[in-house]
Amino acid sequence: MLARGLRSSLYLSMKHYPPHRSLNATRPAKYFSSVHTISNPTPRFHRFSGLQVALSVLISASLGFGTAVYLTDSPYLKSETPQFGSSDDIQNAISDLKKIFGAGSKVSTDPDDLHDHGFSANDHHPGMRHSVVVYPESTEDVVKIVNIATKYRVPITAYSGATSLEGHYRGHSTGGICVDMGNMDHIIEINEKDGDLVCQPGVRWMDINETLREKGIPLFFPIDPAPGATIGGMLSTGCSGTNAVRYGTAKGEWFLNVTVVLPSGEVIKTRQRSRKSSAGFDTTKLFIGAEGTLGIITEVTIRLAPVLPTTVAVVHFPNVQKATEAVMDVMQAGVGIQCVELVDDVFMSAINKFGMSKKVYPEKDSLFFKFQGPATIGSASPSASASLRETAEIVKKITEKHGGTGFRLARDANEADELWADRKNAHYAGLALVDGSKGWPTDVCVPVSKLPQLVYETKQDIKNAGLVSTIVGHVGDGNFHALILFKTDEEMERAKELVHRMVKRAIALDGTCTGEHGVGIGKKEYLIGELGEGTVQLMKTIKKTIDPLGIFNPGKLYPDDVTSSTQKTSKE
Ligand SMILES: Cc1cc2nc3c(=O)[nH]c(=O)nc-3n(C[C@H](O)[C@H](O)[C@H](O)COP(=O)(O)OP(=O)(O)OC[C@H]3O[C@@H](n4cnc5c(N)ncnc54)[C@H](O)[C@@H]3O)c2cc1C
Repeated sequence: MLARGLRSSLYLSMKHYPPHRSLNATRPAKYFSSVHTISNPTPRFHRFSGLQVALSVLISASLGFGTAVYLTDSPYLKSETPQFGSSDDIQNAISDLKKIFGAGSKVSTDPDDLHDHGFSANDHHPGMRHSVVVYPESTEDVVKIVNIATKYRVPITAYSGATSLEGHYRGHSTGGICVDMGNMDHIIEINEKDGDLVCQPGVRWMDINETLREKGIPLFFPIDPAPGATIGGMLSTGCSGTNAVRYGTAKGEWFLNVTVVLPSGEVIKTRQRSRKSSAGFDTTKLFIGAEGTLGIITEVTIRLAPVLPTTVAVVHFPNVQKATEAVMDVMQAGVGIQCVELVDDVFMSAINKFGMSKKVYPEKDSLFFKFQGPATIGSASPSASASLRETAEIVKKITEKHGGTGFRLARDANEADELWADRKNAHYAGLALVDGSKGWPTDVCVPVSKLPQLVYETKQDIKNAGLVSTIVGHVGDGNFHALILFKTDEEMERAKELVHRMVKRAIALDGTCTGEHGVGIGKKEYLIGELGEGTVQLMKTIKKTIDPLGIFNPGKLYPDDVTSSTQKTSKE
């Protein structure tokens, strides 16, 4: 049985998360061998032009013949706007879904269900219901759903942990099918000797780690976004988290292969389970960060890392500049840093005010470190690890050199958990700063050396806008988050404008509009300014080649087509 209690003990705020997937909330991870019946649609041949021909050859070579032959004379290939089915088509699609899956719990048009799947308590982008929610249990089920969506040209959106922050899984205005992956949450195979694990996409990363712990397997999956996030959603958003400074992001090599139902209805597996492969370019990566726009992931092989002893320390600085300089030196020292988190003075006062911490912190810009190192031979206790002690000593010296004060190293594992929980409660501690407020969460990322400038200018901007916001950064990666508080619609508009300016600032500093949350609907207007028109056009061409009807999660990720004159304005 999965110990879901871990979530509440580590993350005191977990109870505030939107109730999700009541269908499988208590489901234990199961083990079974999977057999996929791959159904290929009837091949159809069509003519293409220009880059589409080149790409279709390229993509068909790697994704399988079925993809290329699926390319149709879709109006979407010729025009910029996909043509979706009518409301009658949607009703026909629902009726086909009910015929295939029965009208029971696998297909829902319950208004509450539709609402829950098209809105989010975690962000403030406009919500939009889907027309129907379907709960597949296998790859074969997903193939059937995709084929119905294609038959009626109905938008189709995957939904998993529902923790994404940029409106990723909102419905489409014409209506559509939401595919809730919550019943596909099984761990299929754990290969301890190989350090990998095969699972369905609806399993949560925290449940994987808890299962490994319960089984006494000293391995874990180190990508750590929101506690409720699942492997399919994590892969699809290209996420990361506090561990990224040591382990990298979802865009690294943590996903060895994926099984995907393509818009054609064809099922492909991107590669085998070996740790590395130079057989062609990396088609697994095509789906990482694709936000459900290129297909639905139904099985994944992930890499695992050895669990090592860790401990936590906190240290305070006169300003962000000094803290960032200290981090740059610490990273160059080559010591065992698993996480290094920058928090600002406002955040520290939020922690004190939130009331969940046993400590009272100095309200100064601060760094939380998680150190990691091998256990000392013969020692039973992680805190006895000589490498952790040595790392702590080195880091203390470096931080003092940069004006760090009050260096506090956890005395034992309990205190380390408490210190880390204080950092992890960022979202809810932040909200406690202004009674009755809501928060607009956002993230941007810049080269680490540019972070002090970005934070300084953003803090000034927040002050000038007359709003309150905490700032928390995965400083080792130059990634920072703001949670801008608002109560009224007018304040929300000001928060939105602040985010806009923050993104522009980050891009101007050679950074990105999102280091880890992804694009969804919230950040797509920035892609051309950040990546350039050619790169965005390449992304769109790949999208159109794989999903010629444009029905997979429409309206997300790809910038809307605009005239060159409006494009110019949006870059200013
Ligand atoms: C409190 C809080 C803290 C957070 N902290 C972090 C953090 O530290 N780092 C970070 O990176 N993010 C963070 N996030 C954001 C979020 O956790 C990540 O974006 C996460 O990767 C989303 O996973 P999910 O399972 O919830 O996906 P969902 O929200 O369900 O879906 C996200 C996207 O993936 C697509 N998708 C889902 N499943 C599939 C599938 N099987 N096949 C194809 N497409 C699919 C959906 O269509 C959607 O576009 C945080 C969010 C919250 C609320």
